[in-house]
Amino acid sequence: MRRPCIEIDVEKIKHNANCLVKQCGEKGIEIMGVTKGVCAYLPVVQAMLEGGVKKLGDSRMQNIMALRKAGVENPIYLIRIPMISEVQDVVYYADGSLNSEIDVIKALAREAKKLGKVHKVILMVDVGDLREGVMPEDVLDVVGEILKLEGIEFEGLGTNVGCYGAILPSYENTKILVDLAANIEKKYGIKVRTISGGNTATLSLVERGKLPEGVNQLRVGEGILLGTDTTHNFRKVPGTVQDTMKLKTEIIEVKVKPSYPIGEIGRDAFGNVPVYEDRGPMRRAIVALGKQDCRIEGLKPINGRIEILGASSDHMILDVTKCPEIKVGDIVEFGVDYAAMLSLMTSGYVEKVVIR
Ligand SMILES: *Cc1c(COP(=O)(O)O)cnc(C)c1O
Repeated sequence: MRRPCIEIDVEKIKHNANCLVKQCGEKGIEIMGVTKGVCAYLPVVQAMLEGGVKKLGDSRMQNIMALRKAGVENPIYLIRIPMISEVQDVVYYADGSLNSEIDVIKALAREAKKLGKVHKVILMVDVGDLREGVMPEDVLDVVGEILKLEGIEFEGLGTNVGCYGAILPSYENTKILVDLAANIEKKYGIKVRTISGGNTATLSLVERGKLPEGVNQLRVGEGILLGTDTTHNFRKVPGTVQDTMKLKTEIIEVKVKPSYPIGEIGRDAFGNVPVYEDRGPMRRAIVALGKQDCRIEGLKPINGRIEILGASSDHMILDVTKCPEIKVGDIVEFGVDYAAMLSLMTSGYVEKVVIR
């Protein structure tokens, strides 16, 4: 097995998917399984499907195309609002997409007509996080425009909070969607089929019984993949397990060295001016992994006696003073958060390993 590698326990991911599909299903909420955090790595996607997820969502067309090539036939949605330049692929490979720009939706309509397809559109509403979405006061007009288009099915409304602006989901900001949907139904005499109320962060509203009546979909990545909710201070999502994956790295040097560097301090390879604390001589280990592969801040050594000191592009330095047994060639394991997982899964230098 090559190293570094990320070891993924797909049974645990299946458990998490099943747990959330059941918990939410009882309340009439479907789970769209969001696969971007693992670059739609097929064994993980299969685990989600085995866990009962029916619809998938990903932010990247390359991932969606790979899933189709692998034979996945479930509905898949593009959950990053599309680029105009990719609408042809979007309509061909995805069943639907989240959208916020009428010009893009018109382009999707033209492609859909050309291909003899109907593309589903979920209109995103910005309820305060200030990432994607139409402002609430503009929603009725935009829906009117969408309803005129051939080749497009207006499926419903969606919103996203947490990911960019760190705004937490609340009864009030999620209720905006439900109220808008009611207004749309009244004004246009249609049924708004899907109200896609949020992501992992919104699970906390479901647990507390604070999710507004009418929301019938959540798009969940992190909660399934890691069983955590970063936006609510990395809390554990009830019923899920957390140790779904771990990173394994190999030690390439172990030496006792000073803890304070010798010489004039300039900037490191990433332009930062480092700050050091002189803790006297220290047993330091280097593992073959760096910032090119991983967001180091998101790693946590599984052995609590090891501390991460820092990293350059290809080397990560550990304080192993409390681990006299550690030697060159040993494996050091780490837990990962969402950001670390994302970077590791994206790196072509990190081996992906499935365990059962
Ligand atoms: C990433 C993303 C999600 C999933 O977020 P998690 O926090 O991983 O559950 C849902 N919706 C959109 C639009 C996203 O970009």
